[in-house]
Amino acid sequence: MPPPLLSGISIPCQKAPAINLPIARPDAFGERVSCVTKLKADSGKKESISGQQAESGSSFDEYFSLTGEEILEIVKKSNIIDEYTDTTLYEELVNFSNKKINYLFANAVDEDPYISSGARQLLEFPSEITLALSLCKKVCGAKHSKLLLCDRFLLADQIGVYYQGMSVVRLFGRYPLMPSFKRKYRKKGCGLIGVGALRHLASLIMNGRDERLAVLTVSGDCIKNPQNIMAFEGTKISDILNFAGLDKSPEVIFSNGVIAPKIIKDIDGETVSCEMRSITALSSLALPQKMSCLGCGKCVSVCHKKLMPYYIVKAYERGEIEETAQYYPFACDSCGACTISCPASIDVCGIVSQCRDELSASKLRNNRKN
Ligand code: SF4
Ligand code: SF4
Repeated sequence: MPPPLLSGISIPCQKAPAINLPIARPDAFGERVSCVTKLKADSGKKESISGQQAESGSSFDEYFSLTGEEILEIVKKSNIIDEYTDTTLYEELVNFSNKKINYLFANAVDEDPYISSGARQLLEFPSEITLALSLCKKVCGAKHSKLLLCDRFLLADQIGVYYQGMSVVRLFGRYPLMPSFKRKYRKKGCGLIGVGALRHLASLIMNGRDERLAVLTVSGDCIKNPQNIMAFEGTKISDILNFAGLDKSPEVIFSNGVIAPKIIKDIDGETVSCEMRSITALSSLALPQKMSCLGCGKCVSVCHKKLMPYYIVKAYERGEIEETAQYYPFACDSCGACTISCPASIDVCGIVSQCRDELSASKLRNNRKN
């Protein structure tokens, strides 16, 4: 039986982007909360904690004396799931050992603009995550362990080149980011483990707790207090939404972001699972019929690259593609947030990409002529 609702922990996070943000460009990931807030389910009171090392005051040295076989045995008996791959940690470690990987990464890549739970956990549970990563490295015999995250977050400013004694690899460029990363590291031999799975392993080894806890970025224009929430598997989606504050009736609710959304149809019947990384509640979807740009600016407000897709769409509609160059369509990573937020059903992301491609082609032609 899963523990009751939100006996969990709420981690107020940098706010995830909400669809209805004002045109004045919001810095969706700009707010920072420095500590974890633990919500006591019984009293509704909050208390601040700073990760389990500070809580217990213990040193990690004793855990490093465990052998690779002992760690693998613990993992085998556990329920740990990698939230990025929906695979058991045990299967992953055996696979990495067989492949004899050289690099093992803690995966905190939040490619989707509606998800910040990976990087947030890295910030809130750094000691636990790096401890578990070091133990997993021992199991699979990797030579190096590193932290992996997207460069687009302000979080990246708080995480330097080295973090908790480990080097950090940042992904940047156009969506999707992972294929080029994997191409680069394929020959070197690499494996990735989600930071949630690592946090779970650290909790199991340090405290003997095999708790199936997911960390979800709960956001959207129907959510009053967008935040990252840690909740037990089995918690009702409706309870999560109520906890974060449901402002309006959502027309659509989905998990795991806009890039690969999974629609949640029954918020009372469906529950949190460990492979969930976000829940987004939106008051409306784009209208089914395509219209001209309304100038509402929603695409501007959701663009995490701080672009002005509105101006690109307007220039495109006038047939002035050369004009769009001044709005930097090359910086777009095709995340799709502008398309999903457009009330006029315009494929904003598609238009930005088309302008980018046409500008590149025209530049190439000009270079050839000269
Ligand atoms: S222009 Fe649209 S697709 Fe491109 S980064 Fe901004 S929101 Fe994402
Ligand atoms: S492209 Fe869509 S979201 Fe952007 S300003 Fe026009 S109507 Fe609004």
